[in-house]
Parts: sequence; structure tokens; C-alpha cells
Amino acid sequence: MVESTGLQRPSRSAPADAGPGYSGRLATTAFGAPSLSHWCLWIEPLPSPPDRWSQRWSLAVEAALTSWSSLLPIQRVDDPSRAQIVVRRRRPPRRQTPSGWRASNGRSHFSIRELTRAGRLRREPFIEVLISPGQRPTALQSTALHELGHAIGLWGHSPNNGDALAPFQTGDPVLTPSVSDRTTLDWIRSQPSQFGDLAEPTDDPAQPRLGAPRRAANTD
Ligand SMILES: [Zn+2]
Repeated sequence: MVESTGLQRPSRSAPADAGPGYSGRLATTAFGAPSLSHWCLWIEPLPSPPDRWSQRWSLAVEAALTSWSSLLPIQRVDDPSRAQIVVRRRRPPRRQTPSGWRASNGRSHFSIRELTRAGRLRREPFIEVLISPGQRPTALQSTALHELGHAIGLWGHSPNNGDALAPFQTGDPVLTPSVSDRTTLDWIRSQPSQFGDLAEPTDDPAQPRLGAPRRAANTD
């Protein structure tokens, strides 16, 4: 499931088979593909003392992360302020839809931030992922795989049940990215984007300086 600030759905006139996999179904942003060459990710640590549910949750999220990490650079960080993706052990709040209240096991929220890291002005996607701990281990892992897939740029759903980004799980849970998930991820990572480091500050005194530290801005 997806919540977004700044994502744009694919235009209806675009053919659904514009690129490989389910790339024609992916949302984009005003700054291009919601993708970074390198992600920093923070996972909510275990409580102390750890309980069985939290341990099960951590194992499932780690397994899903290991699958994606074999396909692109994702760095685990201990400080959530360094991360573009934060993963929390929390049941998503129910949402009201036209057909009634809807519960889900996972939810990802997208926003865009401009901030300074190590003196460099950057524009970054920021994704908060909520994954409910109250699931069977395989359901937990497939939920984590799906939501982390959104977080790293796959902001859409596949029509094929064998893909991690299928909206509903029927049959066996998908525990690793499919060929279609991989080719779609490769495609979104090859698309132009204006995320990452922004222009260097100018030394021309007639120009406004951009190098001063700026507060993080969130489009939320
Ligand atoms: Zn989804």
C-alpha cells in the first residue's frame, strides 16, 4: 500500500507496456524518478528486552532487505536522521476508503526533502515504512519485501501475482524479487532524476549563496 506526497501517477494515455516489467505502471515525481544511486536505511531496533514478536519481525525485515541489497546499494545506518528510508515496527492506522475502513499489514509514505548533508545541499526522497508485527513469518517477509520495493522506487503495482509488487498475495507469499521485479527496478534506476546532490554553491559575490546550512524541508 502506498501513501504519497509528491508522487505522480503514470498518465492514462501512456501504454502500460512502455518499458520492461511493470515499469509503465510506476509513479514518478516532478524531479524525475524517485530513485537514488545509493540509499541509507534505518530499521527500528529491538526493544529491550526483546520479545518473540519483535524478534520475528526483525528477522523477516532483514531477510527482505538482504534480497534487495543484492540488487542495489543499500547501507544500514544506526541514526534515523541519516536515512532516506526508515522502517518502523508498527501496524499502519486504518484508512477510510469509499468502500469503508481498510486495514493493511504494511504501508509506505513518500515525501521529498531538501537538506544539507556534510555541507552539500541535496534533494532526497524520504520514505517512512510501517510494517505490522502481527503476521506469520512468511507474510511478514513478503510484506517487508513489497514495502521496501516501493521505498527503493517501485511506486506502482504489478498485475502478476508472482511479483513482489503485486498488490494482493494469492497462493505462496513472494519472498524474493522476481525477474520482472528486477528488470523494473533496473529500468527505474536508469531513468533521469534530479535527486541527490544539487548545484555547487557559487563563489560569485553577486550571486546569492547557497552554501549556508539550510533547514530540512519536507513537502508534507
Ligand atoms: Zn503496495
